Amino acid sequence: MPSPFFTSPVHEFELGKFVAFKEVPARVTTILDQIRLSKLGDVVPARDFGTAPIDRVHSLAYRTYLKHAYKDWCDRGGNPEGVFPDVFPVRVAGNLRRWGKGDDSSDTAQKFSYTADGGLGGSAGYYCFDMTGVITDGTYEAAYAAAQVALTGAELLVQEKQHAVFSLCRPPGHHAHSDICGGYCFFNNAAIATRYLSEKLKVGKVAIIDIDYHHGNGTQDIFYSESNPLYVSLHAALDYPYYWGSEVEVGENEGEGFNVNVPLKLGTRDEEYVAALKEVLDTRVAPYNPDCVVVSLGVDTFVNDPIGAFFLTTPVYTEIGRLLGSLQRPTLFVMEGGYAIPDIGVNVTNVLHGFESRFPAQS
Ligand SMILES: [Zn+2]
Repeated sequence: MPSPFFTSPVHEFELGKFVAFKEVPARVTTILDQIRLSKLGDVVPARDFGTAPIDRVHSLAYRTYLKHAYKDWCDRGGNPEGVFPDVFPVRVAGNLRRWGKGDDSSDTAQKFSYTADGGLGGSAGYYCFDMTGVITDGTYEAAYAAAQVALTGAELLVQEKQHAVFSLCRPPGHHAHSDICGGYCFFNNAAIATRYLSEKLKVGKVAIIDIDYHHGNGTQDIFYSESNPLYVSLHAALDYPYYWGSEVEVGENEGEGFNVNVPLKLGTRDEEYVAALKEVLDTRVAPYNPDCVVVSLGVDTFVNDPIGAFFLTTPVYTEIGRLLGSLQRPTLFVMEGGYAIPDIGVNVTNVLHGFESRFPAQS
């Protein structure tokens, strides 16, 4: 089984500078140490479900790109620290639609070896929306492993009838679209687990509650036209990923009304956050009556987080867990962001302790 420690980029690009990469392996060890101390439950290794559940969310072209991107990059003389796109197809996205879904069969395409993804030189930008989706040696293996961790959690939740399972995924996933990486995310672990819960484990309706500081643009996009799952996100307004997360994004077609964004102001504090969470749980999640809940658990809402700009304190994570537990549904917690080492361990276990407090103790 691949290890989440396989990927460890050195730098990311921020405010015009290469700065230390914040999504580091120590995040996992810090949280795992705290989980063990907390005696919340057994720590079990992930099982391997193969690529099929990943391919239910991500395109084969994208997965194939991720698998080979780093070697191709290095072969072209790229910086061995990782793949950094130098061209993004943002405003020509409309033009790319002419290529259809991988249909590169026109005479021009064949004559000049055009492909929809821009070929070897263009694919880095085509499959990525920013410069924190840094692909390096081992990224594919780590992302694959993280997806298996989420899938294992889904299976344990249902087949062992647990009321909660925590999947300690790294890299995180909620910024990853079906064929675009970014925001430290490559495979969308929560989305992969959700599809597996619906399609393989037949759980019925799933509600995804995304409490990471950032909007989960990838998860939103993947399920935007579907009425199951319900996607609910509380996040900072006017912060990364900038172009997604407003209240007017409500879903489309069959999915209209099943995408709920709750943008909160920068500087949001404990009481405001708890009130917003309680309201959306009461007014949107509970009436949906989900059979099962997937929580995209980010703790970059913490006051000392080096990325987030909310002011949540460590004790309020227990209250957040209690509120999530008030739904009384089997719940899979999938780790997303949180970069304030070492506080992230306690903040995560506080959420889980709060959740547990709403369920009678098991003998
Ligand atoms: Zn985040």
